[in-house]
Amino acid sequence: MDNLFDATEGGESREERLAGLSRQVATCTRCDLASGRTNTVFGTGDPHSPLMLVGEGPGENEDATGLPFVGRAGKLLDDILKAVELTRDQVYLTNVVKCRATLEEGGRLRNRPPKAGEIKTCNPYLEAQIDAVKPEIILCLGGPAAKTLIDKDFRITKDRGQWYDKNGLKIMATFHPAYVLRQRGDDLQNTKRLVWKDIQAVHDEYKKAMAGRK
Ligand code: URA
Repeated sequence: MDNLFDATEGGESREERLAGLSRQVATCTRCDLASGRTNTVFGTGDPHSPLMLVGEGPGENEDATGLPFVGRAGKLLDDILKAVELTRDQVYLTNVVKCRATLEEGGRLRNRPPKAGEIKTCNPYLEAQIDAVKPEIILCLGGPAAKTLIDKDFRITKDRGQWYDKNGLKIMATFHPAYVLRQRGDDLQNTKRLVWKDIQAVHDEYKKAMAGRK
């Protein structure tokens, strides 16, 4: 990838670096997802937060607005954060891919998971965001983010809730909020319990990181 890291030159602020990257993403045509998008969805939140959350990719609502996690899964994400007294303004929130992936079904466009090639093509943008924000902690929301950032063979059911090291930063994965929303009955209660446990562990590290900054 050629000019992605140009923005590191010249002592730019995190905000300026991210704004530059966001402009590159807005005109990106590196994969086929570009042709179907309404808006790119770059990321939002505090570029100085010690905590970055990484989801899978924009869905219909995010594509329409250009903002991450604005649909039902986003509402649940807000509730998960609220459980540990955090808001999305206190974290940096982004996705593995920046454009909506769709398939046509019964004459309608539906969301689909991004393909491995799409994730790979988009990955330098995510890595550049990590490089700009320099989070101390990353929480991967769902398998695709965990496979991208932790290990290609990551299994969300077995490997979630554990800390891994990524070049000195702490990284964990939990279930994606959309997955939680698809559960019913006991499965729903059990999945929620695990997510709540994971966010508490993340919050403990967040508090330590914030204390270390004082
Ligand atoms: N799901 C994601 O993974 N990301 C979004 O931004 C919205 C839904």
